[in-house]
Amino acid sequence: MSGGRKGYRKCDKCRRNRAERFFVSKRGRTCSSCRKRGRSKTSHELRMSRTYGLARGEYDELLKAQGGVCAICEQPRRQRLSVDHDHRTGLVRGLLCRMCNGRLLTSARDNPETLRSAADYLECPPAVSIIGRRYHTEDGRP
Ligand SMILES: [Zn+2]
Ligand SMILES: [Zn+2]
Repeated sequence: MSGGRKGYRKCDKCRRNRAERFFVSKRGRTCSSCRKRGRSKTSHELRMSRTYGLARGEYDELLKAQGGVCAICEQPRRQRLSVDHDHRTGLVRGLLCRMCNGRLLTSARDNPETLRSAADYLECPPAVSIIGRRYHTEDGRP
């Protein structure tokens, strides 16, 4: 009997003692969590290459160049960043979070002028120059 609790085995990858059911077979050396992680990394690369023509490692290269964050909002995300591309030409533009890719750019219809004008609007709200600093309150009182 080789050490450890009965029915438990040490995974070669994560070095955790895991129950027998986490292994594919009696001889399996890597637990299912580690196998899944390995697969998803590979399948992600495969998808990147099929869909966007990114070579192996290019996604990581882009991510590193962007400092590991979304190219627009620069917020670190737990979810993997999406490969943003121009829907008309297919040009790969960079890596974006779901909010920026799915909401921000979609709302602005990928129009740089709209986004520039949105930035101007926020920095210099037109109402302030017309009616002064008026504040909205829920109950209508000033
Ligand atoms: Zn493991
Ligand atoms: Zn973002």
